[in-house]
Amino acid sequence: MKLDDTSDPAAAPAPAPPGAAPPADPLPVSHVRSRFPLGGRSIWRGVAEAQWNDWHWQQRERVTRLEQLERVIRLSDDERRAVVDAEAHFHMGITPYYAGLMDPEDPTCPIRLQAVPSAGELSSSPVDLLDPLAEERDMPVPGITHRYPDRVLFYTTHNCPVYCRHCTRKRKVADPTSAAAHAQIDGSIAYIAHHTEIRDVVISGGDPLSLSDDRLDDILGRLRAIPHVEIFRLGTRNLVTLPQRITDDLVRMLRRHHPVYVNTHFNHPRECTAEAYEAARRLADAGCALGNQMVLLRGVNDDPRIVKDLNHRLLMMRIRPYYIYQCDLAQGISHFRTPIEVGRRIIRALRGHTSGLAVPYFVVDAPDGGGKIPVNPDYVVRHEGKRWVLRNWAGKEYTYVEP
Ligand code: SF4
Repeated sequence: MKLDDTSDPAAAPAPAPPGAAPPADPLPVSHVRSRFPLGGRSIWRGVAEAQWNDWHWQQRERVTRLEQLERVIRLSDDERRAVVDAEAHFHMGITPYYAGLMDPEDPTCPIRLQAVPSAGELSSSPVDLLDPLAEERDMPVPGITHRYPDRVLFYTTHNCPVYCRHCTRKRKVADPTSAAAHAQIDGSIAYIAHHTEIRDVVISGGDPLSLSDDRLDDILGRLRAIPHVEIFRLGTRNLVTLPQRITDDLVRMLRRHHPVYVNTHFNHPRECTAEAYEAARRLADAGCALGNQMVLLRGVNDDPRIVKDLNHRLLMMRIRPYYIYQCDLAQGISHFRTPIEVGRRIIRALRGHTSGLAVPYFVVDAPDGGGKIPVNPDYVVRHEGKRWVLRNWAGKEYTYVEP
């Protein structure tokens, strides 16, 4: 009871018995149940709840062919052509769950734009690059990118539940022949063990949660046995595209390997469903620290109101908005790119106008291996000796004099 609480103690609810489970978080009203919130002609309407919530079933039932997709949404002529023509460049794969979030009648639906091939993928711009972040160049052994002094990127699989049309690793994701074999995983772990400066391992792919619990447990266990490895970061979009993957068994396993950070990739408020909320709750309750890495995409989230709404929902899910990425120079995604100024405008619209927790860093992951470079708005007006003239969030100038 609060010290100033004057209510009748007899009217208070009885204390929970020792060992009882804590009450479940209330579902924020903004997080709707995902199963076809926009209606439409879904082929999965009759599927039992237990089957729908089984991540193996979701994986098996992925939409990978034009004729399946035609039964889920009304395709435009452009989309229909692109589904066929893009197949040779980057597979299509959409879980029933994520397909259920699509507006079946609207080709500009932000979920559709991320999952259904479009004509823009087939055109290229002169600045496009096959490996825009030079990840293969900074690869001392297959499966490891070692660019920054104390951390590495560790590729474990090239499978994902949904193949995002804006993926920066199109060159290898969705190609089963390029996935990490056991020998490659062994070589990657040996490299990390040999390099005592590595304290932070970012486990990525593809999506590492495409691996079985046992396989992931084995990899994390072997990394945890390396004395200089301090933290793991799992880069996964499963919370967005297949939240059913976050099972009690998975989080029980992750608990054994703490500290585990989970960075996910929500791009639009419509992805913040009740199922995604439950997945985030399980991970957070299991002690994982959650962050979001949004990619700025034309027509999906290039609007400050959308980003603010997304970030507020993420905070309700205990996910900290961490980065907004400028869409990089990968081939076949130029139709998603926005001017850098759009990202700066979004940050200006957030800073001071909402909680600092809802304001991520806006970064350009520089071509040619330059790494992440913050390009946030400049709040320093001028600097003369010890006098700093600064502009605040409301546009007013203030002078700070250093001691
Ligand atoms: S989940 Fe990540 S790696 Fe997989 S397709 Fe999407 S963006 Fe690419």
